[in-house]
Amino acid sequence: MGFLLACPNCGQRDVYEFRFGGEVHARPQFGASKKDWMDYVYRRSNTAGVENEWWYHRMGCRRWFQATRDTTNNSVLRTFWTDQEGSDNAVRARK
Ligand SMILES: [Zn+2]
Repeated sequence: MGFLLACPNCGQRDVYEFRFGGEVHARPQFGASKKDWMDYVYRRSNTAGVENEWWYHRMGCRRWFQATRDTTNNSVLRTFWTDQEGSDNAVRARK
């Protein structure tokens, strides 16, 4: 199933130009337990709804960015560089 994804650098492109990098979750602190690291590396919440995800534009600018996507209908709410989260520079999907 295809959909459009807006790279913050290149603009709207077919999702097949990108590599999915998984859901975004907090990295454990230094000295965290093995269980915390196991959960971080292997455990996924598999959200049915809105989540933040990593995406890599492999057939374009070859940069990583994040997208907020509704997994129930593949609608992309916004895409952004990680250092601009919450800023007005985020690329918001056209309705
Ligand atoms: Zn790009």
